[in-house]
Amino acid sequence: QPVIQVENIHRVYETAAGQTHALRGVSFSIMPGEFVAIMGPSGSGKSTLMHTLGCLDSPTSGRYLLEGSDIARCTQDELADIRATRIGFVFQAFNLLPRTTVLRNVMLPLMYTSCPASEREARARAALAAVALPEEYFAHKSNEISGGQMQRVAIARALVNSPALILADEPTGNLDTATGDQVLDTFSRLRDAGKTIVLITHEPDVAEHADRTLYIRDGLLYESYEGMRRAGKVI
Ligand code: ADP
Ligand code: ADP
Repeated sequence: QPVIQVENIHRVYETAAGQTHALRGVSFSIMPGEFVAIMGPSGSGKSTLMHTLGCLDSPTSGRYLLEGSDIARCTQDELADIRATRIGFVFQAFNLLPRTTVLRNVMLPLMYTSCPASEREARARAALAAVALPEEYFAHKSNEISGGQMQRVAIARALVNSPALILADEPTGNLDTATGDQVLDTFSRLRDAGKTIVLITHEPDVAEHADRTLYIRDGLLYESYEGMRRAGKVI
């Protein structure tokens, strides 16, 4: 069963100036254990698609199934629970609590689940081990480590609930190329361990680290560069 199944999704924004058709009939599936990049330039619909996949925004029409569940049938409480437990979010800006230790940052998402208090630290340590962060940093405050380390802590935090999906939005946008490549290698290792990863980016060099790239242009999604070229979207 696919982790993500998107069927003919449209998203129309209504504004004072009129309508913007941000997604114009997008369909694709992502299977468990895939590492997929969604690549497109500014204004192509990436954020709208990422918010849809993250259950933060509802499509105007079409269907989104996450692990087989139709998101449109979920209540707001169920959606909040899905975001907290089934999806691990990774952002460009890391979004860690700065004066809190690395270990506490990673334990935080477990506070909102049924994970027993006695198991939280062990789960956080396991997630930090999965991103290969050395133990000597676990007690550091998260503003006392490097940017690449911060992003690996953020990935550990995204992993700690064993989500079905890791959704990473420009995760290397604040990092230099060498450090960014280390973060992307971390995603590749997590894929090797069976995790499903969706990486949203405008940079071809970043997308290259994924196993498969989906191209988004003007609210339409293409499974290949060749397909996008045939549609006249490559200059
Ligand atoms: P990207 O992330 O690739 O830059 P977006 O999904 O943010 O693309 O935007 C796609 C289109 O939808 C753009 O034309 C943008 O101006 C428009 N758009 C995005 N968010 C909103 C919104 N909240 N209200 C109105 N228009 C929006
Ligand atoms: P940027 O990619 O511009 O740095 P962010 O990554 O901070 O922006 O946020 C991207 C989007 O995800 C924002 O619209 C924000 O509302 C949403 N968001 C931020 N934090 C969370 C969170 N913890 N859970 C769910 N959604 C979030």
